[in-house]
Amino acid sequence: MALIVQKYGGTSVGDTDRILNVARRIKTFVDEGHSVVVVVSARSGVTNDLIARAKTLNASPDEREMDMLLAVGEQETIALTAMALHSLGVKAVSRTGAQAGIYTDFAHTRARITEITGGDIKKCLDLGKVVIVAGFQGIDRDGDISTLGRGGSDLSAIALAAVLKADICQIYTDVNGVYTADPRIVKHARKIPEMSYEELLEMASLGSKVMQARSVEFAQKHNVVFEVRSSFNNEPGTIVKSEAPSLEDVVISGVAVDRNQTKVTVSDIPDKPGTAAEIFRQLGEAGIVVDMIVQNISRGGKANLTFTVSKDDAVKAGKVLDAVCGKLKSGAVSLTGDIAKVSVVGTGMRSHSGIAAKFFQTLADNNINIQVITTSEIKISVGIFLEDAEKAVNALHTAFGLDAE
Ligand code: ADP
Ligand code: ASP
Ligand code: MG
Repeated sequence: MALIVQKYGGTSVGDTDRILNVARRIKTFVDEGHSVVVVVSARSGVTNDLIARAKTLNASPDEREMDMLLAVGEQETIALTAMALHSLGVKAVSRTGAQAGIYTDFAHTRARITEITGGDIKKCLDLGKVVIVAGFQGIDRDGDISTLGRGGSDLSAIALAAVLKADICQIYTDVNGVYTADPRIVKHARKIPEMSYEELLEMASLGSKVMQARSVEFAQKHNVVFEVRSSFNNEPGTIVKSEAPSLEDVVISGVAVDRNQTKVTVSDIPDKPGTAAEIFRQLGEAGIVVDMIVQNISRGGKANLTFTVSKDDAVKAGKVLDAVCGKLKSGAVSLTGDIAKVSVVGTGMRSHSGIAAKFFQTLADNNINIQVITTSEIKISVGIFLEDAEKAVNALHTAFGLDAE
């Protein structure tokens, strides 16, 4: 008898038929005698709809109220899932994030978990009930509802698995596991049977939204082994753990794409110590994460600084930078359009040469122009035009030998 934490994502609970399908799957584990805690997301599209509705009333809605609104999506699904289980004769009870004792800080819409008490989950399990917990939400110490950032139900599940010391943690989604690239973009993508936290974290941070990056980070910190698998079949998925020995010889584990970036250029700024520090300090204080950075020195003691930010932060970044240029008494800001960040990732890159040469040659052969570049010891990323993204991902996937036979 095992304690199992399962998470079902938005597509898996997308309508009442799918919720019934999920309930049937849960029942098979209950029938085998296991204790099951289930985390569910909102139906796919619901969170996006709620955000869009809020924005029709207010371009920058109050973040506390936003969380009050967004938590609605998951609350619908927990109740419907409990009802579906009841219809199959399975004892089940739903719990909100607050009822499950998921405490967070006060950073509404991107809150961090500070403590999980579990509420009465253990008691309910002892009574033979399945406990269905609303993903994505928690409660701050003032008693206000908070949410954990987009894709945050993954984090709810991983964190509950850690705290409850679950024997098994399964993340059910709408693909068969983690692939060498998004299987919706790359037809020949291959499922990765086992991978390390480090590799998945890098892929998730670079835009592969199959798992929320923060949830992978949490799993790594607390050593939660988990499996990403499909809720639509019984195929084995991807096991994620600290060491994945089978991948040691693999130089590149995958290709990631993030289509949600905007390129920002601040031109004609003073070419002297402190300018970049001032710009990035102000952006940091505004809570804006800056990605790929390049600086060009122009003539006459002036420089141009180009970097990318998330599309969602573009307007805010523009305002902050206008203010900085005002203070520096020079410089002009331009938001030069949406770009895609395409990356190859692999821990094996540390000990192999020639990866960069192959990467840039592949883009050149496909006539893809590069706007910004950034690297770490286990990845190379470039910013390119959005319309080149699909071609670039597929070409790199093939060039690095990742295509399925
Ligand atoms: P859920 O609603 O179950 O949380 P998400 O939509 O958040 O599901 O994540 C699953 C999606 O992630 C897939 O449908 C797929 O398009 C996308 N994806 C991106 N990169 C990858 C990858 N490397 N492997 C698998 N899926 C990926
Ligand atoms: N419903 C939330 C979102 O769409 C959380 C999740 O699905 O994980 O981001
Ligand atoms: Mg998700």
